[in-house]
Amino acid sequence: MKFKPANHIQDLQYFGEFGGVNPSISDSSTYTFLSAKTMFDTFEGNAEGCYLYSRHSSPSNLYLGEALAAMEGTDTANVAASGMGAITSTLLQLCSAGDHIVCSRTIYGGTYAFLKNFTPKFNIETSFVDITKLDAVEAAINEDTKVLYCESISNPLLEVADLEGLSKIAKKHNIPLVVDNTFSPLSITPTELGADIVIHSLTKFINGSSDTVGGVTCGSQEFINSLRSVNDGANMLLGPTMDSLRSASILKNMRTLHIRIKQHSSNALYLAQKFEEDGFRTVYPGLPSHPGHELFKKMMNREYGFGGMMTIDVGSLEKANELMELMQESNLGYLAVSLGFYKTLFSAPGSSTSSEIPEDEQKEMGLSDGLIRFSIGLDNDIDRTYNMMRDCMHQVGLLEAQEA
Ligand code: PLP
Repeated sequence: MKFKPANHIQDLQYFGEFGGVNPSISDSSTYTFLSAKTMFDTFEGNAEGCYLYSRHSSPSNLYLGEALAAMEGTDTANVAASGMGAITSTLLQLCSAGDHIVCSRTIYGGTYAFLKNFTPKFNIETSFVDITKLDAVEAAINEDTKVLYCESISNPLLEVADLEGLSKIAKKHNIPLVVDNTFSPLSITPTELGADIVIHSLTKFINGSSDTVGGVTCGSQEFINSLRSVNDGANMLLGPTMDSLRSASILKNMRTLHIRIKQHSSNALYLAQKFEEDGFRTVYPGLPSHPGHELFKKMMNREYGFGGMMTIDVGSLEKANELMELMQESNLGYLAVSLGFYKTLFSAPGSSTSSEIPEDEQKEMGLSDGLIRFSIGLDNDIDRTYNMMRDCMHQVGLLEAQEA
């Protein structure tokens, strides 16, 4: 049977302390024990159901983790204070000094900076590869490689990773495939395609209201226990813990994720088709012109569409800035980084979210100056939005240039 991620979220049932329809928020950083022996056993990891201290785990964080694990089809999950909190702890848990990581070269700028500039301090080296070339990926693996890392849909170029192909390579070399699925929650279920660990920045579509940062690592019980170990767990010891009040609010927003993703996807597809017809170099995995279109179709949970992220290239950073400022003035969205909001968000990644990547590498991977990344909103009347965007394009002289 096809995996139904939204059903799995909906099938969870919670009762609050007083019969509330939402679980009660555990507003405590520490927990009492009726006997000193149980406290000792809990430290040793042998007291199921007992809480110790909220940096380790809290009931609210466990509820949210349970919903995310249900969505991604893993045993369990550990929520973190940010996507980067989840990414950095996961990678540091999997790697020790002397180890090596093979990573896609088109990834979120923060992840790139962590692997390029930060982990070498601990003698962990990373080879950045074109993730769409399976031969190159396999060739980069050596005897010290401990992780194969990618984003299912990459930020910002929207490259589609062949998760089945990558997982075969990872299994052959006995290393875990770790996938950041931030751009395609519900649309793609990486574990169904062989991924071992799935990460999200909850800051984006999953929370969906741009009011908090958050992250999660979904994986096996054994791996998540290791992240939380009081002796050597990266999450426990580095401390990127989510606050209980926040995890409770993210859990409530998750219940509408399936409706939101469908609307983000259908709006993005509509605009991408229109912009492509207008002659813009448009990148959206739902367009047949996208090199990863067929692959996405093969991997996707159809009902959620191709996601809410798209890019267009308007030729230069100056034009991109002019257009984005005008679109914001026209209340079509915000000139802001991040994604997954109800309003459209747009930014020029070369000078913002990917600015950590040196210019020559940006050029090599195809990240041009005039690229605008859109996170398409939940607009009720997307044709009206399109016409208003067209007006802005006219005003900055873009459509004339396309039509000439
Ligand atoms: N992964 C991806 C694909 C992202 O786009 C981002 C942030 O933009 C992150 C991870 C980091 O998440 P956070 O900002 O929640 O730390």
